[in-house]
Amino acid sequence: MARLPGVSPSPEREQALIDTLASALSAVMEPWITPLVLEDADPQLMRWGAAFPEGSGLASELILCPQSRIGFCGDFISGPGFGLIEGALRSGEELAEQLLAAMGPVSVPAHGQPA
Ligand SMILES: Cc1cc2nc3c(=O)[nH]c(=O)nc-3n(C[C@H](O)[C@H](O)[C@H](O)COP(=O)(O)OP(=O)(O)OC[C@H]3O[C@@H](n4cnc5c(N)ncnc54)[C@H](O)[C@@H]3O)c2cc1C
Repeated sequence: MARLPGVSPSPEREQALIDTLASALSAVMEPWITPLVLEDADPQLMRWGAAFPEGSGLASELILCPQSRIGFCGDFISGPGFGLIEGALRSGEELAEQLLAAMGPVSVPAHGQPA
């Protein structure tokens, strides 16, 4: 329930979500901690609106610039997982594939032998 542009916070919904999460946490922790007392823990939702990227991100066709010999990867690359860890990982894989394709065939020395 993160803060989104143009969306007003709802204290009732936030409390309902806190209650639901607290209940789920208690159920998960039950084998180890019984009872799990959360009343005094002052539970609150973390609302990190700044973590939401604006715009549509850098087009994936632009992540490698062979002329400048520079490549980009990270959560700011558009595509699946944009703005998330998934997007950062996917863009890294995509950049690696584009780099390998741009480099052409490479010979990898066998283990233990000099290059
Ligand atoms: C509070 C918060 C909660 C989040 N929760 C989630 C979540 O639950 N799930 C999820 O999928 N994503 C979440 N995210 C988003 C996730 O953290 C990012 O999508 C992800 O970390 C992006 O990875 P990245 O490698 O692209 O960039 P980053 O992780 O930001 O890495 C960039 C690195 O570059 C370094 N750097 C920057 N400028 C320079 C410079 N000039 N020279 C040298 N180094 C530099 C920075 O110090 C940093 O270490 C959250 C983000 C925030 C802020």
